[in-house]
Amino acid sequence: MKMYDVTGAIYEGMTVYKNKTEKQPRIKPQTNGYVTESRIELDVHTGTHVDAPLHMVVDGETMESIPMEKLVGGCKVLDLTAVADRITRQDLERFEIEKGDFLLFKTKNSYSDEFSFSFIYLAQDGAEYLAELGVRGVGTDALGIERNQEGHPTHKILFSAGMIVIEGLRLKEVAEARYFMVAAPLKLIGTDAAPARVLLFEGLL
Ligand SMILES: [Zn+2]
Repeated sequence: MKMYDVTGAIYEGMTVYKNKTEKQPRIKPQTNGYVTESRIELDVHTGTHVDAPLHMVVDGETMESIPMEKLVGGCKVLDLTAVADRITRQDLERFEIEKGDFLLFKTKNSYSDEFSFSFIYLAQDGAEYLAELGVRGVGTDALGIERNQEGHPTHKILFSAGMIVIEGLRLKEVAEARYFMVAAPLKLIGTDAAPARVLLFEGLL
């Protein structure tokens, strides 16, 4: 059984959304000479993370509303590396997508560790198509599932369809196939997102 860790590493100086300094994690080791206990200061959307509806919906549900049952199970990695700008309905129609699928989008974002202001994102019509199909969740290898779309329609469509959103995956080493996924966000209460360790297993399905 082969395991892929598709999580981005968290450290000071890592890639953060739009390269904003205030989004950098701060790691402060405290020591009395022999015992060290570090404190971390972290945006909940740091690195690989799961979004909760509250992120884009006023009074929306928070992290504890997402059951682990939706984050553990089969998933499909879709090779979308040929997409140049955004993932549209047309791009998705050529795949066999079924109700209940959890889809991970492997795009050219996975081939660069720098933040790209023109990262590949999920277009509104792509989100609508997945909502129609009854997809369980989506994961992207960008730090955002959409970029600069007025009113954030992609997030809103996904959340109102009850879909889970994982952002910041690293999928370069992973081929298009089916995997068993364990996406384990920190058990934060009341937040709009949580950093997660995401593992894919080959041959467990
Ligand atoms: Zn997020």
